[in-house]
Amino acid sequence: MRENFFTTIKSKMPHFYDLWSSQAHSLSFQNTRSDYLRNRISLLSVVLAVLVSLWIPFDILFLTSDQSIKITFARLFLSCFFFFLALNKYQFYSLRQIQFCIALFPISLNLFYLYCSAVLDFPESNLRYAYIYTLLPIIHVAILTILPITFKESLSLLSITAITQIFTDYYADRLFAPEYLAIYWLQSVLALMVIWSQVSKLHMLMRLYRQAILDPLTGIYNRRMLLKIGKKAMIECNQKNEPFSVMLFDIDKFKRINDTWGHSVGDKVLTGFTAFVQSKIRKTDFFGRYGGEEFILFLPNCTPDTALKISNRMLTAIRELKMPIDIENQSLSITTCIGISTYSENDTLASMLERADLALYKCKHSGRDCSNFHPIDLQYESDERLKIAEKISIN
Ligand code: GH3
Ligand code: MG
Ligand code: MG
Repeated sequence: MRENFFTTIKSKMPHFYDLWSSQAHSLSFQNTRSDYLRNRISLLSVVLAVLVSLWIPFDILFLTSDQSIKITFARLFLSCFFFFLALNKYQFYSLRQIQFCIALFPISLNLFYLYCSAVLDFPESNLRYAYIYTLLPIIHVAILTILPITFKESLSLLSITAITQIFTDYYADRLFAPEYLAIYWLQSVLALMVIWSQVSKLHMLMRLYRQAILDPLTGIYNRRMLLKIGKKAMIECNQKNEPFSVMLFDIDKFKRINDTWGHSVGDKVLTGFTAFVQSKIRKTDFFGRYGGEEFILFLPNCTPDTALKISNRMLTAIRELKMPIDIENQSLSITTCIGISTYSENDTLASMLERADLALYKCKHSGRDCSNFHPIDLQYESDERLKIAEKISIN
């Protein structure tokens, strides 16, 4: 039942699900958000470390010496803990570790609240100094406003403060006492605002991220992101001793489509083509727009033989694809050229792409609608490239 409910939300409202949980976030967005959160929590740690100890003189002023000594030590301990967090921010690397680190804020602050309540014998908030302690849970909720986090993360963090407060008030025998209702109300409204603010920040971060990494026309990775992901995938495959292949697609005679049917039909063909290729690739592959009518597919753990087989299957499927163009009920067919290269020792992503590009030139030269694999030896091929380029410009 639960599974069905979330599966339905995930498929029907993917953007809402993105704000609900980080489960559906891509690894690269998780890394980007982790970096952002890491910087925020390190800054927050420093601010809290200073704020927590700034109140020490007032403790001494308001409290008995026994109470102030105990709370001062607690403040100094908490302050050191926050400095420690700030200094060790790079120990928290993955999103899980960052989530744990964020949870340490309400946990440590609420433990401090519990300790203060115990030392001060659960003071009533109408005592002249006590509100600074009894209102601590409200501050704990407000502090987390600055974090761009999901509904689920936000609710988990808020529940730490809520549970602490329920426990304290129950222990002090004032749970749901009429004079405390206003505080609960205030805190609930504030919690709502905090969740709103956190999720809005996440939403904004997601939108900016999507704009920065996706191609606006086709919705697939843009060149910058594609090359970044490709480089990472290449290094990972190399470390795992797995083959890594690249396919460079170029739609044949695409200019003719633009010239014959207009630019908007050209755009439709580009979106239709990308949606089609995306539906054919594995989840572990990365597909993006290299520029114009050129696309790249990175294939981790894929040998040259497999890449060639895949490319031939793709060529046939693309050839048979009919793309409706909303003009006189017509549909268009296209063909492509695919240049392939596979990682070999001392390769860089640039040298791999160079070879795939060269293989693509060979396809164009040998009549289009075909694929070609380019083995190694870049120096020799550089000369060859010039010859091919010359031939292509002559033809
Ligand atoms: P070839 O078979 O040799 O690859 O020829 P081609 O016509 O496909 O290649 P060429 O490089 O001559 O033309 C590519 C065209 O793609 C030119 C450019 O106007 C068009 N183009 C690039 N980006 C877009 C786009 O976003 N939308 C549309 N409609 N056309 C685009
Ligand atoms: Mg081209
Ligand atoms: Mg082309």
